Amino acid sequence: MKGFKDGIRGKVLTMDDAEYEQVRIVFNGMIDKRPAIIVRCTGTADVIDAVIFANKHRLLLAVRGGGHNVAGHSTCDGGMMIDLQLMRSVDVDPLKRVARVQGGATLGDVDRETQAFGLAVPLGVVSHTGVAGLTLGGGFSWLRAKYGLTIDNLISADIVTSDGRFLNASEEENEDLFWAIRGGGGNFGVVTSFEFRLHPVGPVVMFCAPMYSADNASHILKFWREFMMYTPDEFTSQLFMQNITESDSIPSELHGKAVIVPAGVYLGPVEEGEKFIQPLRELDGLVIDQSGPKQFRTIQSMFDQSFEKGALQNYWKSLYLDTFSDEVIELLVKTFKERPAKNVANVVQYLHGASSRIAADATAFGDRSSLYMIELNSSWTGPEENERNIEWTRQRWEEFKRFSSGKVYLNHDGLHEGGEDVVQNTFADNYKRLQDIKKKYDPDNLFRLNANIIPAK
Ligand code: FAD
Repeated sequence: MKGFKDGIRGKVLTMDDAEYEQVRIVFNGMIDKRPAIIVRCTGTADVIDAVIFANKHRLLLAVRGGGHNVAGHSTCDGGMMIDLQLMRSVDVDPLKRVARVQGGATLGDVDRETQAFGLAVPLGVVSHTGVAGLTLGGGFSWLRAKYGLTIDNLISADIVTSDGRFLNASEEENEDLFWAIRGGGGNFGVVTSFEFRLHPVGPVVMFCAPMYSADNASHILKFWREFMMYTPDEFTSQLFMQNITESDSIPSELHGKAVIVPAGVYLGPVEEGEKFIQPLRELDGLVIDQSGPKQFRTIQSMFDQSFEKGALQNYWKSLYLDTFSDEVIELLVKTFKERPAKNVANVVQYLHGASSRIAADATAFGDRSSLYMIELNSSWTGPEENERNIEWTRQRWEEFKRFSSGKVYLNHDGLHEGGEDVVQNTFADNYKRLQDIKKKYDPDNLFRLNANIIPAK
């Protein structure tokens, strides 16, 4: 251990170190794990040494990018955490429209650097989420309908595999690995750097966020369903069913009110966007309308306050739906009405556009044919409420399964209690190929704290 520790340029923390307690925290307050060693890497050489050390000593190994995984996959009890949070550089080439992003960067890091040139990568919607975990699992953003999932904009990645090799994966090199990391999660190694394609975005775009009283929920959901059927790729929308969170831009008397928000971002001239979203802003039961032209970066950090690291207990489930019938809508409305905690948010993503036009076998991510994905995102304050809230969310999720093939977004899969069955069902025809690639790059399953793919025999 001493030789290993001395060689690391970053830091090797154990429970005796003053920083340890703070550094080990991950997003989900429910996850309270204590790795025996946390390696705070500052470069690829540290990552290589840490992987070789963990492999040699057969340590349980967790890899942390942004630490946002709700199932808590980026930490462990005992074993080693490879922590990339000191590796956050972002280099933009505005002429080639390419960004190179280190494995511990957050979405906010990338938006900060790319928006300086009026460019963006399609990433998620909360700025302190990690680029790595989000990308490796797919990546849904406000730019999705126009430019696809995050993985659809990945040009290449640098990866340290379980034997400590440093590989580049792209369409030209290690093509099998490149296919696998586009949706296959952290199963294949530690990504030290991603290379992304950039697109012109904003910096000011039209944001849609009328908030309607939940008393009118059915009507709003049905209107949104019809409206979205004819929407162009320029408009990406997700509908939120939630309580208004505290924020300076909303009068305090409205905080906590239950609302339905058919939200979205229009990529195109702002005036055109304003005209396009107008019908969504004219429905009955308006509580407050937060729509308007906004800096793209402002939108990207708008929800940050509601997701403070370690503050809440979280259990978030997702499910792709085969239909968005009246029956589904009534079930969503009922589910929202009966939520046990105020911080429960139901989200419906409408999955049209560029991200839906990629063939199931083109990336490991798999089938993109479902037009709707729901998320039942339960969050609450006290650990004493864990059992009740988890059970409630699980049961409600089961009720939606009759409208679904049971496929989930693996970045949003509760505590991943379904294990290999869910992984296999979600990857479907791609699973066998993923198992073969897993065997080639990680035969002993060193990288198993994730939506785990079991290596082929
Ligand atoms: P981590 O917990 O650090 O890691 C997640 C997984 O990836 C772990 O298995 C880990 O081992 C592996 N991993 C992490 N870094 C690396 C690396 N460098 N190399 C190899 N493996 C690695 N998803 C969306 O698609 N769109 C959204 O808008 C969105 N919003 C979210 C908002 C919040 C508040 C939260 C909590 C989650 C959100 N998600 C969203 C889900 C998000 O994609 C996942 O939580 C994802 O795991 C976050 O990545 P991370 O790097 O922060 O996670």
